[in-house]
Amino acid sequence: MPPCRPLTCEIVSIGDEMTSGARLDTNAQWLSRRMGELGVTVQFHSTVGDTLDDNINVFRIAASRADLVVATGGLGPTRDDLTRESLAAVVGQPLEMRESAMKHIESMYSRRNREMPERNRVQAMFPVGSDEIFNPQGTAPGIDLMVPQNGRSPSRIFALPGVPAEMVRMFDDTVAPRVMAIAGGGSRIRHAVMKFFGTGESDMEQRLGEMISRDRQPRVGITVSAATISLRITATADTDEICDGMIAETRREILQRVPEFYFGDGETFEQHHAIAATLRCRDQSMAIVELGRAAVLGDWFATLGDSPAYRGGVSLADTDDLCRIFDAANPDEALQNARQRFAADWMLLVDQYPALDNAADARLPNVDVALTIIDPSGQTLRHTITLGGHPDIMQARIAKSAMAWMRKVLQ
Ligand code: ATP
Ligand code: MG
Repeated sequence: MPPCRPLTCEIVSIGDEMTSGARLDTNAQWLSRRMGELGVTVQFHSTVGDTLDDNINVFRIAASRADLVVATGGLGPTRDDLTRESLAAVVGQPLEMRESAMKHIESMYSRRNREMPERNRVQAMFPVGSDEIFNPQGTAPGIDLMVPQNGRSPSRIFALPGVPAEMVRMFDDTVAPRVMAIAGGGSRIRHAVMKFFGTGESDMEQRLGEMISRDRQPRVGITVSAATISLRITATADTDEICDGMIAETRREILQRVPEFYFGDGETFEQHHAIAATLRCRDQSMAIVELGRAAVLGDWFATLGDSPAYRGGVSLADTDDLCRIFDAANPDEALQNARQRFAADWMLLVDQYPALDNAADARLPNVDVALTIIDPSGQTLRHTITLGGHPDIMQARIAKSAMAWMRKVLQ
């Protein structure tokens, strides 16, 4: 029977590199988001160094107050990797050798044509009564362990390696389905990410209304990165087909509520991908001039690689430079010349990024940025954006606003 209240969880991050400040604990952030998507309430984050007694204490406390504990780190083969021993101590069981895990570790080494160091055998040791969590990418398997609790159902600990890529894969492959089985929400999980630019988080929340409530199925979560909004839809059900059907329905509803700011799908999909895709469909190309000595768009478009849609870009100080370099009497003529030299159908000009020399201020005053587009017929289009805000994301917002206008013109 699934519990009638939401499951609770504690995230435990293990390693001196985190407690000393040498490394930022990104695993806890990632795991908390994923747990939230599964409908689990994360109540605590604990971080602990590589000390056996402290690890045992942290695990005891976590298991005593949370239904689920997800720990990362300390599963390597070295002497400061103490997670196995700590878990064995918490349940009062010895460690035993697991043949299946041993075979996997040996095969990882033989596949890389390397001899397995003797000390790696310790990675095949498990507390008696625990389950293995398969690690397709590394040698350290994870541990899935029940910890009995007086007067209530046992707490369940999932211990994963600290290496973020291994942790992510093992969570998605093995831990998430087990958590869903406990929560009683079906055994399959599917995600979709929709991207938006042009409005703020609070407007987005208001327009989505009850769609972002925590007990909705599928769940819709909002994250914002430098003014780009991601909506992550998570569906759980008994089959992938049912999940996908639920996601499609939720997508339709979202697009009805916020049609105008949507530009594409996928965690890493950005507006420059959307623009390049549109241009490719039309068999057209563009080039970019950025003034103010920043090359934000140039950098982003460069990540497209050798794309027929992008001919290249230049970053210059100001319109004087633009006229001088493209042998013109005025900026419009310079941009026309640039379009010809780049052999591009479209030309985009950003005039200009503000200087950020004294950008210690928390907010920059509003600045006007003039955007110019020359379309394939040679016609000049103009648009001005007014932006202020935190200097850390100022240039990115200007560049993204320029792309949003370009997308509108391309429609
Ligand atoms: P390994 O088998 O690689 O030793 P492990 O389970 O022992 O795995 P650690 O040694 O604790 O893991 O960490 C391995 C790597 O992962 C290190 O580079 C570490 O900095 C990084 N790492 C560990 N925990 C975290 C975390 N919470 N957030 C981000 N990175 C982490
Ligand atoms: Mg280690």
